[in-house]
Amino acid sequence: MNTLSVADSVLRSAKTTCIPVPLPKPLQSDTHAVRVVWGSRVVQVGGGAPVRIQSMTNTDTADAIGTAIQVKELALAGSEMVRITVNNDEAARAVPHVRDQLDRMGIDVPLVGDFHYNGHRLLADHPACAQALSKYRINPGNVGRGDKRDRQFVQMIETAVRYDKVVRIGVNWGSLDQDLLARMMDDNHARAQPWDARQVMYEALITSALESAEQAEAAGLGADRIILSCKVSGVQDLIAVYQSLAQRSRYALHLGLTEAGMGTKGTVASTAALSVLLQQGIGDTIRVSLTPEPGEARTQEVVVAAEILQALGLRAFVPSVTACPGCGRTTSTTFQELAKQIDDFLRRSMPEWRAQYPGVESLKVAVMGCIVNGPGESKHADIGISLPGTGEAPAAPVYIDGERSVILRGEHIARDFQALVGNYIQQRYGRAP
Ligand code: SF4
Repeated sequence: MNTLSVADSVLRSAKTTCIPVPLPKPLQSDTHAVRVVWGSRVVQVGGGAPVRIQSMTNTDTADAIGTAIQVKELALAGSEMVRITVNNDEAARAVPHVRDQLDRMGIDVPLVGDFHYNGHRLLADHPACAQALSKYRINPGNVGRGDKRDRQFVQMIETAVRYDKVVRIGVNWGSLDQDLLARMMDDNHARAQPWDARQVMYEALITSALESAEQAEAAGLGADRIILSCKVSGVQDLIAVYQSLAQRSRYALHLGLTEAGMGTKGTVASTAALSVLLQQGIGDTIRVSLTPEPGEARTQEVVVAAEILQALGLRAFVPSVTACPGCGRTTSTTFQELAKQIDDFLRRSMPEWRAQYPGVESLKVAVMGCIVNGPGESKHADIGISLPGTGEAPAAPVYIDGERSVILRGEHIARDFQALVGNYIQQRYGRAP
């Protein structure tokens, strides 16, 4: 058979064989349900709950007011748990005051205490801090060496049991338990065919998490009070480690690429790593560890986390705006400005709309640059506008629920379209009086 006839037969079979493309379905995680509680607020992590968003402050926790303000900002942006550093006595003393301030502001987001090196002592010396936190993050690589390690780790776990708190056993490759790593290196040398050094590191991360979890359970902490994480800064490393970790345990998993970096690089790397794992049903809570650019709000990491979950169709937080990238058919910036205005309008209005218009977060808006894809894409949205491209008649048809509704003209197309979006939301999502 020559090349042409092979191509012919492929084309023929493509025409006659019609197999439906399977509908996309991210896998569901199968982990223990962990309840992170503050007052009447319960944030369930794992056990089939929606993937939770969390974040971390970068204020000095000893500054209780400054920390409470940033926690509030993160919570209002959509963070369902907020971690704060507890690194010394001043910070530990401030924790109950941070909690108090938040309670007074009506912010019931659970607080997570981040402990390294001296957590056993801080929790013992500051019972009000131990009580005000809903969850403790313990890094098994940073609780002490030798005999001290086990003693101090168990001491922290016993505090969690006493106060009925959740613990994240958070392993990080930058602070891996050195004794464990040395032991695993020795084991590897003894192998007939030694593993690659990266595989030993993967195994050390996972073993550190699983052995620590076992030790925590032996000290009385239930599996439903334990969350695990094994953070690394390479995308492929993170995927490999979590795929293996998920196969080997049913503990709820905290997912995040550590030290993801700044701006586009950090956002893309986190999105790449987290998306692959979340699609496979791996990960019950996520944090995007972005380094804020100078002047950038700390809340950006929450916005990115929410966008990842929304883009994957796992959760909906804000109405989505579909906008075309523009091309040579759009020589003005009108449609870019309109897309931005609408996006800002939707985000700005969400805190109020969330309570007023239940379900509004699933709204789909389209802002398109010309007639090529404009009408089609607008019809797929709940409400969409197709702006005139270069040389097209100066008219912008608006599509509502797939039907052409009105044609906007003149200088105030942006304002008029925003009003139409507002009316649509009111009519579709407003509760009957
Ligand atoms: S919809 Fe029109 S303006 Fe937008 S990218 Fe497509 S061809 Fe270009």
